[in-house]
Amino acid sequence: MYNFKKSSIVFFCVLIIVLPLDLQVVEAEEQDVVENVILMIPDGFSTSYVTSYRLFKGEELVFDPFLIGMIKTNSANSWVTDSAAAATAMSTGVKTNNKMIGVTPDGQILKTILEEAKGSGRSTGLVTTVSITDATPAAFGAHVISRKDQTEIAKQLITKVDVLLGGGKYHFLSETSRNEKQENTLEVAKSSGYYYLETRDQLLNLSGSEEKVLGLFAEAELTPVIDKRTKEQPSLEEMTTAAIQSLHNNEKGFFLMIEGGQIDRAGHVHDPVWAMNETKAFEEAVEKVLDFAKENGQTLVVIAGDHDTGGMSVGGYDEYVANVELLKEAKATGNYIASKLNHKRSNAANVMKEYTGIKLTKKEAKQIKKAKKKEVAISINHIISKRAYIGWTTHVHSGTNVPIYAFGPRSHLFSGNLDNTDIPKKIAEVMGVEISNK
Ligand SMILES: [Zn+2]
Repeated sequence: MYNFKKSSIVFFCVLIIVLPLDLQVVEAEEQDVVENVILMIPDGFSTSYVTSYRLFKGEELVFDPFLIGMIKTNSANSWVTDSAAAATAMSTGVKTNNKMIGVTPDGQILKTILEEAKGSGRSTGLVTTVSITDATPAAFGAHVISRKDQTEIAKQLITKVDVLLGGGKYHFLSETSRNEKQENTLEVAKSSGYYYLETRDQLLNLSGSEEKVLGLFAEAELTPVIDKRTKEQPSLEEMTTAAIQSLHNNEKGFFLMIEGGQIDRAGHVHDPVWAMNETKAFEEAVEKVLDFAKENGQTLVVIAGDHDTGGMSVGGYDEYVANVELLKEAKATGNYIASKLNHKRSNAANVMKEYTGIKLTKKEAKQIKKAKKKEVAISINHIISKRAYIGWTTHVHSGTNVPIYAFGPRSHLFSGNLDNTDIPKKIAEVMGVEISNK
């Protein structure tokens, strides 16, 4: 009896002393403001891409362990979003119509998470493998009714984004070439303190102390990784490393969005080789980001596609088979292979053997020969897809949910069945800023 009483007293003392302390710790963690947030968007990347890439790679993805939920992707006016509406939802917490950037369906300007981060004293950055003025990066730092207005997007980006790395030089220069009287955005950027560069060497030679960097490595989009035959353009991983180095100069922290923009491009033309190799390049960038986040301890990493592209399937053609491994043999995209065909396409068998390892059947050779001029690359991609048992259902996007991954402090907030509009709201909470859109 005595022993029971004694142990009960000890037990309750422990409860009184330890439990409140424990709760305090949890509360403090919940309210902790995280210094840096890196949002990574593999454009067009759905679960079929995840599975295909796992088979292609032969092992788990670097970010597989951090899968935390799914996100709904629809836009304000369609169950099937485009990248403009998807990125607007992911940057502002508000759904808009397809093709619109950083504005409501009736054209009202929305505050973006990048702008809120900037307002809190943090540095900001955008990195992509397509044009930096393309829909996904644009929606974080610009407000236009139409995503096509890329000249205006360029002008807006240089007023608030500290580090801009990608393609799209054309949109920073075009006004000079078209109309001398108008301002040249590139010159404005240089005079407002941007360190400007346009080659991989220049990027690799940055000192790391440059706080404002504008790197435009192609007139439009960067060359697909599998088609690169020179080292003039940096990889997504190299741009990522440079961006983090530059943004990390700010003691108040930073917000960085990194887009694997060409996974989507591959999906549009049903090119599984392109898609797998761009996913590989994206994964390499993720690895660098995770290394930084693990060492830094004050960085939340969120990875989520904006939508599916192409309606890819793993398996198809009425067989219980997948043969994605075959894609490892390929050395070029369908577009590149098509450019190597002669006028009559009589060298199709040789070219296909050289770049894909595939020995064409007579039927397949005929398929390439008979394709309309604009669809030669697609006919090549369909032959490769069928051999790899990868199916496609559309040349645009599909409305399926996409996976979300998170790593670092407060990453648990991103778990469950989310809407794409939840992402910036949760990032705002984590960064201790308000996202003021209603
Ligand atoms: Zn797309």
